[in-house]
Amino acid sequence: MALASAWIRAPLRRGRRHLQRRRLHTSHADAVVCGGGIAGCAAAYHLALRGAGRVVVVSAHAPLTLTSAMSTECYRDFWPSPEMAGLMGRSIDLMEGLARDTDNAIGMTRRGYAYFTKDAATLAKVEATCAALAAADAAGMPYRRHEGAAPAYEFGDAGPLSAAVLAAGGGPRGLDVLVGNAAVRRAFPAVGGDVVGAVHARRAGWVSAQQYGAALVAAARELGVEFATGEVRAVDFEGGRVAAVRYADAGAAHGDAALPGGAPTHALETPRFVNAAGPCLNAVHGLLPGRDAMAPEVARALGVDAPGDARRLPLRNHLHAKVIFRDAAGAVPRDAPMMISLDPQTIWPVDDDDERAALAEAFGEAAAAKLAGTAGPGVHLRPYAHDALLLLWEHWHGDWAVAEPPDLHPAFDADLFPEVCLRGLASFIPALGAAVDDPGDRPVVDGGYYTETPELVPLLGPVPGARGAFLCGGLAGYGLMAAHAAGELVAAHALGDELPWYAPAMAPARYADPAYADTVRRIAEAGDGGI
Ligand SMILES: Cc1cc2nc3c(=O)[nH]c(=O)nc-3n(C[C@H](O)[C@H](O)[C@H](O)COP(=O)(O)OP(=O)(O)OC[C@H]3O[C@@H](n4cnc5c(N)ncnc54)[C@H](O)[C@@H]3O)c2cc1C
Repeated sequence: MALASAWIRAPLRRGRRHLQRRRLHTSHADAVVCGGGIAGCAAAYHLALRGAGRVVVVSAHAPLTLTSAMSTECYRDFWPSPEMAGLMGRSIDLMEGLARDTDNAIGMTRRGYAYFTKDAATLAKVEATCAALAAADAAGMPYRRHEGAAPAYEFGDAGPLSAAVLAAGGGPRGLDVLVGNAAVRRAFPAVGGDVVGAVHARRAGWVSAQQYGAALVAAARELGVEFATGEVRAVDFEGGRVAAVRYADAGAAHGDAALPGGAPTHALETPRFVNAAGPCLNAVHGLLPGRDAMAPEVARALGVDAPGDARRLPLRNHLHAKVIFRDAAGAVPRDAPMMISLDPQTIWPVDDDDERAALAEAFGEAAAAKLAGTAGPGVHLRPYAHDALLLLWEHWHGDWAVAEPPDLHPAFDADLFPEVCLRGLASFIPALGAAVDDPGDRPVVDGGYYTETPELVPLLGPVPGARGAFLCGGLAGYGLMAAHAAGELVAAHALGDELPWYAPAMAPARYADPAYADTVRRIAEAGDGGI
C-alpha cells in the first residue's frame, strides 16, 4: 500500500510542477527565432550548430507552411552584384552539402536558368554583366561565349544530381552566352526564330522545397532546436538589450491578416531575438524600442521616406503568383531549364480604338490598360512534375495594393493570369501560343508575397540600437535559395563569430551610411536581379 501511494504521489508531484510552470509560462532560451519559414528554420539550425544553447522557434504557422510553401523552388548563383552572387554561392554550397548528406532526398537539379532576348542591345548588356562577374574574384564565374550553330556546349544531366556528381562538386558552373539565333536554337529548339541571344547560367536549378525544408527542420531538431506555435507580441528590453520575448499561445495565434493573437501568455527570457517573420517582418520589427535611422541621401536614392520616430524598415510586400499549367501538347521539352524572357512586350496588341473598347468591355478598364500597355520583362517558366509547367510573371499582380501588415491569405486573378502568362511566354516559345485560346484543364493559381527592400538586398544582421535583436528577412523572390547562407550569416552575427566578406552589404546598418546611396545607384544600373 505504502509502495502504491508513493508510486502515485511521484507523478502527482511532477504534474503539480508542470501545472505551476504552465501558470507561469516562463522559461529561458539562449536564442528565440520568430518565424518558422525557411529563413527562421535556417537561422535556428545555424544557431544550434554553432553552439548557441537552447534555441526556440516561435511561429504563428506550422513550419514552412506560409510563403515558403509557395515558391517555384529554384536557385541560381547568377546575380548582377558580387555580394549577392557571394551569398547565393555560399547558400548553394550549403544546399549541395544537404543534398550529399541526404542522398539527394531534396531532389536538387542543375538545369540552369536560361535568359532569352530578341534585342541585340539587351544581349550586349547581359554579356557585359557576365564578363564583369567572370572577372570579379569574389563571384568567380567562368564565362563562355558560343556563336553560330557549332559547337554545341555540354548540357549536363536534367535529373536530380547523382551522388557522383555531387561528390565531384555538383555539376556545371559559370555562364554560357549564346550569340545568334542558330546558337540559341541549337541548344533550345523550342524558342522562336526572332530570339537573338541567350545566357544560360549553369549553377542553377531547383529542389523539392518541401523535402529541403523538412531536411533542415530535421537537422535543427536533431541539434535540439525546439518549435513552439504562437504569435510573438512583445520583445522586452533591459539596459538597451533584449531580455525576453512574449508570445500568445497557439489558439490565439491562428488568426488571419494581422495575426490578431490575444495578450501574451508565454515568456521566454533570452538575450537574443531573431526576427524571421517573412511578410510580417516590419510588424514584428515595430515591437522593438527606438527608431531606425536612414541617411537622407539613401532615402532619396531608394525613393522612400526616411523612417520617423517608430521602427520601420524600407520594405514592401509585393504579390507574386504562379500558375500550374498542364502542358498536354508538350510545347516545352521536359528537360528544359528555367526559361526567362528579358524583353518587355505588349500582351494584347490592339490596332485601334474599337479593339481597345472591346477589351475594356470584356475585362474592365484597368485590366484592359494593362493588357494593351507595355509589360515589363521577366515572364518565366519551368517544367514541373510529370507534364506540367510553372508559369510566373510579376507583371499582373505586382502593382496590386497590399495592406501593412498584409492579408496572409491573398487572392489572385485566377481567371486572367494564366492567359497573361501564356501570352507573354508565347512571345519567345511560339508553340505555347496554341494554349492561349485553349489552356485545357483549368490551371491552378497560387502564390504569396515577395517581401523586399527597394534595392532587393536582404536584411541580415543586427538591428542598430537594439542590442541582441537581429533581422533575417527581406528575402524577396530568392528566400528559398538564400535561406541557408542567410541563416548562417545571422547566426554568426548573433554569436559574435567571424563574418563572411559579403556581410556588410546585407547589414541593416547600411541605411544609415550616406555612402550607401552610391551602392543603391550601382545596383540599379546593374539591373535588379529580381527574377
Ligand atoms: C510565387 C512565389 C515563387 C517563389 N519562387 C522562389 C524561388 O523559385 N526560389 C526562391 O529562392 N524563392 C522563391 N520565392 C520566395 C521565397 O518563397 C520566400 O523568399 C521565402 O519563402 C521567405 O521565407 P521566410 O521564412 O522569410 O517567410 P515565410 O515562409 O512567410 O515564414 C514567415 C513565418 O513567420 C511567422 N510569423 C509572422 N509573424 C509572426 C509573429 N508575430 N509571431 C510568430 N510568427 C510569426 C509566420 O507564421 C511564418 O511561419 C517565391 C515566392 C513566391 C510567393
